[in-house]
Amino acid sequence: MKKVIIFSAPSGSGKTTLVKHSLEAIPELEFSISCTTRQPRGSEIHAVDYHFISPEEFRQKISEDAFVEFEEVYTDKYYGTLKSEVEKIWNLGKVVIFDVDVRGGISLKKYFGDKALSIFIQPPSIEELERRLISRNTDDAETIKTRVEKAEEELSYAKEFDKIVINSDLNEAKKEIEILIKSFIEN
Ligand code: 5GP
Repeated sequence: MKKVIIFSAPSGSGKTTLVKHSLEAIPELEFSISCTTRQPRGSEIHAVDYHFISPEEFRQKISEDAFVEFEEVYTDKYYGTLKSEVEKIWNLGKVVIFDVDVRGGISLKKYFGDKALSIFIQPPSIEELERRLISRNTDDAETIKTRVEKAEEELSYAKEFDKIVINSDLNEAKKEIEILIKSFIEN
């Protein structure tokens, strides 16, 4: 059966770490590489972490109806899930895993319905989330402020997801997610 796993969370909730762990622990999963108009940061690689494309290319893809969903996650920073990624992964006989923002997660769940397991990763608190964003050391103060404000709003959408995992202890969260995904894939 064609299936997808959706991970959403406020930025800094440890979502990307948990997505990476799931990919290592469960070989049936394959990551859906999104398109974005933001610049690569740190050690990110084009066509591995994201397809880093220009705003013109992004608009072109919108007009071609190439996206399942897309969002302006931050002002002038667009992110989108490609239909072609999903098809490619299903054709490999694998289960798709998405790392998207909260609005994107809700759109993807509506689109895929019972084929999808949507998981909301919740930080223990807004203060802890801010601390994590600062210690990650990849964003300037203004960006962190924007992300914290956005996180406060995003937390109110947790209940729209199939499952909520509170990430206070990373190892516990990893275990919990592994169990959720395995039982969804097997049934
Ligand atoms: P970052 O800039 O930190 O990589 O990502 C910012 C936010 O955009 C994260 O919450 C990430 O999950 C989300 N994101 C990444 N790809 C997509 C996508 O294709 N669609 C949507 N809606 N959000 C995405």
